[in-house]
Amino acid sequence: MPSNTIVTIGAGQTAAVAARTLRRRGFDGRIVLIGDECHAPYQRPPLSKEFLAGQCDSESLMLLPEAWREKNDIELLSGSSAVRIDSAAGAVELADGRTLTADSVLIATGGRPRTMAVEGSEPERVHYLRTIDDAQRLADVLRPGARLTLIGGGFIGLEIASTAAQLGVQVTVLEAGPLPLSRLLGDRIARACADLQRSNGIEVRTSATVENISSDSSGVRVRLTGGELISSDLAVLGIGIEPNTAVAEASGITVQHGILVDAQGRTSIPSVYAAGDVAARFSDRAGRHIRVEHFDNASKQGAATANLMLGRIGVVDPAHWFWSDQFGVNVQFTGSAQHTDLVVRGDINAGVFTAFYLDDGILRGACAFDRGEDIGAARELVGRALDPKILADPDVELFDLLADDEEMVTS
Ligand code: NAP
Repeated sequence: MPSNTIVTIGAGQTAAVAARTLRRRGFDGRIVLIGDECHAPYQRPPLSKEFLAGQCDSESLMLLPEAWREKNDIELLSGSSAVRIDSAAGAVELADGRTLTADSVLIATGGRPRTMAVEGSEPERVHYLRTIDDAQRLADVLRPGARLTLIGGGFIGLEIASTAAQLGVQVTVLEAGPLPLSRLLGDRIARACADLQRSNGIEVRTSATVENISSDSSGVRVRLTGGELISSDLAVLGIGIEPNTAVAEASGITVQHGILVDAQGRTSIPSVYAAGDVAARFSDRAGRHIRVEHFDNASKQGAATANLMLGRIGVVDPAHWFWSDQFGVNVQFTGSAQHTDLVVRGDINAGVFTAFYLDDGILRGACAFDRGEDIGAARELVGRALDPKILADPDVELFDLLADDEEMVTS
């Protein structure tokens, strides 16, 4: 096994999993993680849930605890920004003028929240939630009785709504689309998400287009198209993320709203790889490049890229999987919501169900409310032709279908 230097630009989930995988596979060269946050790599999923609710502390979120890093000889440059890869020289240039030699580089720079301009003297009343510092700042002001406007009915909006309401905060969600999460989950299941929020006291406003935001000592005012003014004590903008592609662009790497990588994770420059939220990876399943912004994808691509750097070539193109927790309900999703038929096991109105998205008889995806075990099987079943009656029958164990020699459809 070659003993050389591998540098990750970014020190989040993807980079942490890559580092762990490299050491597990016996890589004995130098590993350097460069992270612009002043924290060691940590888990993000709890930030909008348990961490925000004060149910866990920052130590419990650490992905590569200090003792593990020391034992495994991982160098962490936190609070440092890389600005460019000089691939001819085999070097990574840092913003502070330092240069690191590197035989291989993994770009795992993730994304940053999309922003909107905030007028007025106290723009800090309008929050974002991406980092542990963002979550701490928000946790400090979520007080019982406070009024919170969440702009964006995506994961950030709906998960913070759940956490904040349980802390006694009065919450309004403003979603630009006709339903929250409808693009991701399809209308019927998106409606179930909206119902879950509303039945727990959240005011969910849809087709709400924000015209401008202002903030001063008296609070935050969000003006909607049409002139209506929504007033609150604080607001959170959760309107999606932008991939952090600046280092790749400065290094001459091909970028198209994400760093373009092949099915294994190689960028357009040899020995430079990209993975996680920032990477638009070629998917054989979809026949195009896809950028995915979820934890499971970050972990899988981090591991796959580490393997690739060690010469273990394999295509990682699993059905996407993510989860969310809102008001005590565990929501899990796999695959895509592309469908001509929606088949339901359980009862949507009772809030415990699995919906299967079928396109011309082929399972394309599934979404479960408090039936996460179904998603474990559905992840493996995506792409197969399946009988809707069997899918709807709660007495049929989905894992048993995996043994069936059904026709596998890959496109
Ligand atoms: P998101 O999930 O992409 O959702 C953004 C939402 O805001 C969309 O519903 C979008 O509607 C809406 N929107 C966009 N512009 C708007 C505007 N001007 N006014 C009102 N609504 C607007 O992004 P996010 O919630 O900000 O989350 C950020 C990232 O964190 C994402 O990558 C997300 O996957 C990740 N995250 C994941 C989880 C999880 O997996 N459980 C939890 C937290 C965060 P349209 O779709 O119609 O544009």
